[in-house]
Amino acid sequence: MTTHREKRCRHCGQRYSFTASGPGCDNRVNNDRYCRSCQGEILVTLRKLPIRVKLEWVEVEQPTVEMCEAWEKEWAEEHAAHDPPHFLPYGRRILPCLFDMNDMGNVNYVGIVQGRGEFKGRQFRYSTWTKKPENNTVKVAMEWNMETGDKTAFWRDL
Ligand SMILES: [Zn+2]
Repeated sequence: MTTHREKRCRHCGQRYSFTASGPGCDNRVNNDRYCRSCQGEILVTLRKLPIRVKLEWVEVEQPTVEMCEAWEKEWAEEHAAHDPPHFLPYGRRILPCLFDMNDMGNVNYVGIVQGRGEFKGRQFRYSTWTKKPENNTVKVAMEWNMETGDKTAFWRDL
Protein backbone atom coordinates (compact mmCIF):
# COMPACT_ATOMS: atom_id res chain seq x y z
CA MET A 1 0.00 0.00 0.00
CA THR A 2 1.24 3.46 -0.85
CA THR A 3 0.89 6.15 1.79
CA HIS A 4 1.14 9.80 0.81
CA ARG A 5 1.36 12.61 3.31
CA GLU A 6 1.01 16.26 2.53
CA LYS A 7 4.03 18.24 3.74
CA ARG A 8 5.32 21.78 3.59
CA CYS A 9 8.92 22.14 2.45
CA ARG A 10 11.13 23.46 5.27
CA HIS A 11 13.17 25.47 2.80
CA CYS A 12 10.96 26.92 0.05
CA GLY A 13 7.62 26.64 1.85
CA GLN A 14 5.63 25.00 -0.95
CA ARG A 15 3.31 22.11 -0.21
CA TYR A 16 4.22 18.72 -1.62
CA SER A 17 3.27 15.08 -1.36
CA PHE A 18 5.65 12.87 0.60
CA THR A 19 5.48 9.13 -0.10
CA ALA A 20 5.76 7.49 3.34
CA SER A 21 5.50 3.90 2.09
CA GLY A 22 4.96 1.88 -1.06
CA PRO A 23 6.32 2.52 -4.58
CA GLY A 24 8.43 5.68 -4.71
CA CYS A 25 9.16 5.86 -0.98
CA ASP A 26 12.82 4.94 -1.56
CA ASN A 27 13.28 7.54 -4.28
CA ARG A 28 16.25 9.71 -3.32
CA VAL A 29 14.33 12.97 -3.73
CA ASN A 30 11.38 11.71 -1.66
CA ASN A 31 12.08 13.37 1.69
CA ASP A 32 9.89 14.11 4.70
CA ARG A 33 11.43 17.59 5.21
CA TYR A 34 12.13 18.99 1.75
CA CYS A 35 10.21 19.04 -1.52
CA ARG A 36 11.60 17.14 -4.51
CA SER A 37 13.37 20.12 -6.08
CA CYS A 38 14.99 21.29 -2.81
CA GLN A 39 16.00 17.73 -1.88
CA GLY A 40 17.45 17.32 -5.40
CA GLU A 41 19.61 20.41 -4.86
CA ILE A 42 20.73 19.12 -1.45
CA LEU A 43 21.86 15.82 -3.00
CA VAL A 44 23.76 17.59 -5.82
CA THR A 45 25.51 19.82 -3.25
CA LEU A 46 26.37 16.95 -0.92
CA ARG A 47 28.04 15.11 -3.78
CA LYS A 48 30.61 17.94 -3.96
CA LEU A 49 31.49 17.67 -0.27
CA PRO A 50 34.07 15.08 0.79
CA ILE A 51 33.19 12.16 3.04
CA ARG A 52 35.40 12.63 6.10
CA VAL A 53 34.80 9.42 8.04
CA LYS A 54 33.49 6.10 6.81
CA LEU A 55 32.29 3.06 8.71
CA GLU A 56 34.32 0.00 7.80
CA TRP A 57 33.59 -3.56 9.00
CA VAL A 58 36.83 -5.43 9.60
CA GLU A 59 36.86 -9.20 10.13
CA VAL A 60 38.26 -10.29 13.51
CA GLU A 61 39.16 -13.57 15.22
CA GLN A 62 37.92 -12.38 18.63
CA PRO A 63 35.20 -12.24 19.84
CA THR A 64 33.73 -15.45 18.43
CA VAL A 65 30.24 -15.84 16.94
CA GLU A 66 29.27 -17.73 20.13
CA MET A 67 30.30 -14.74 22.27
CA CYS A 68 28.25 -12.37 20.11
CA GLU A 69 25.22 -14.65 20.34
CA ALA A 70 25.62 -14.84 24.14
CA TRP A 71 25.80 -11.00 24.37
CA GLU A 72 22.74 -10.68 22.17
CA LYS A 73 20.86 -13.08 24.45
CA GLU A 74 21.99 -11.12 27.53
CA TRP A 75 20.81 -7.83 26.00
CA ALA A 76 17.47 -9.41 25.13
CA GLU A 77 17.00 -10.84 28.65
CA GLU A 78 17.96 -7.62 30.41
CA HIS A 79 15.61 -5.56 28.26
CA ALA A 80 12.75 -8.05 28.37
CA ALA A 81 12.78 -7.59 32.17
CA HIS A 82 11.74 -3.97 31.66
CA ASP A 83 8.13 -3.02 32.09
CA PRO A 84 6.97 -2.44 29.39
CA PRO A 85 9.47 -4.72 27.64
CA HIS A 86 11.72 -3.25 24.97
CA PHE A 87 11.36 -5.38 21.91
CA LEU A 88 14.39 -3.89 20.18
CA PRO A 89 16.94 -3.64 22.96
CA TYR A 90 19.69 -1.07 22.76
CA GLY A 91 22.75 -2.38 21.02
CA ARG A 92 20.90 -4.84 18.88
CA ARG A 93 19.34 -4.49 15.48
CA ILE A 94 17.44 -7.15 13.67
CA LEU A 95 18.38 -7.51 10.03
CA PRO A 96 16.37 -9.57 7.57
CA CYS A 97 17.47 -13.18 7.08
CA LEU A 98 19.08 -14.30 3.86
CA PHE A 99 18.66 -17.71 2.30
CA ASP A 100 21.14 -19.73 0.30
CA MET A 101 19.41 -19.97 -3.08
CA ASN A 102 21.03 -23.38 -3.67
CA ASP A 103 19.94 -24.74 -0.30
CA MET A 104 16.90 -23.10 1.31
CA GLY A 105 17.65 -24.87 4.60
CA ASN A 106 20.90 -22.93 4.90
CA VAL A 107 19.75 -19.69 6.53
CA ASN A 108 21.97 -16.68 7.18
CA TYR A 109 21.37 -14.61 10.28
CA VAL A 110 23.13 -11.29 10.79
CA GLY A 111 23.16 -9.59 14.17
CA ILE A 112 24.69 -6.37 15.40
CA VAL A 113 25.67 -6.31 19.02
CA GLN A 114 27.58 -4.13 21.47
CA GLY A 115 30.63 -5.82 22.92
CA ARG A 116 30.92 -6.60 26.62
CA GLY A 117 33.79 -7.14 29.04
CA GLU A 118 37.13 -6.52 27.32
CA PHE A 119 35.22 -5.71 24.10
CA LYS A 120 33.07 -2.99 25.67
CA GLY A 121 32.61 0.15 23.54
CA ARG A 122 32.94 -1.75 20.26
CA GLN A 123 30.21 -2.75 17.87
CA PHE A 124 30.21 -6.15 16.19
CA ARG A 125 28.36 -7.55 13.20
CA TYR A 126 28.21 -11.30 13.19
CA SER A 127 26.94 -13.53 10.44
CA THR A 128 25.97 -17.17 10.87
CA TRP A 129 24.90 -19.89 8.45
CA THR A 130 22.82 -22.78 9.83
CA LYS A 131 24.44 -25.39 7.58
CA LYS A 132 27.80 -23.83 6.76
CA PRO A 133 29.32 -22.64 10.04
CA GLU A 134 32.70 -22.41 8.28
CA ASN A 135 31.27 -19.30 6.57
CA ASN A 136 30.42 -17.59 9.88
CA THR A 137 32.14 -14.26 10.43
CA VAL A 138 32.52 -11.59 13.10
CA LYS A 139 33.40 -8.05 12.07
CA VAL A 140 34.17 -5.02 14.19
CA ALA A 141 33.04 -1.50 13.25
CA MET A 142 36.04 0.73 12.60
CA GLU A 143 36.29 4.39 11.72
CA TRP A 144 38.09 5.08 8.47
CA ASN A 145 39.28 8.67 8.55
CA MET A 146 39.31 9.61 4.86
CA GLU A 147 41.48 12.69 5.48
CA THR A 148 44.33 11.05 7.38
CA GLY A 149 43.84 7.44 6.23
CA ASP A 150 43.73 6.36 9.89
CA LYS A 151 41.73 3.19 10.54
CA THR A 152 42.63 2.52 14.17
CA ALA A 153 39.62 4.06 15.99
CA PHE A 154 36.55 2.02 16.84
CA TRP A 155 33.32 3.30 15.34
CA ARG A 156 30.68 4.69 17.68
CA ASP A 157 27.23 5.72 16.53
CA LEU A 158 27.25 8.74 18.85
ZN1 LIG B 1 11.32 23.14 -1.39
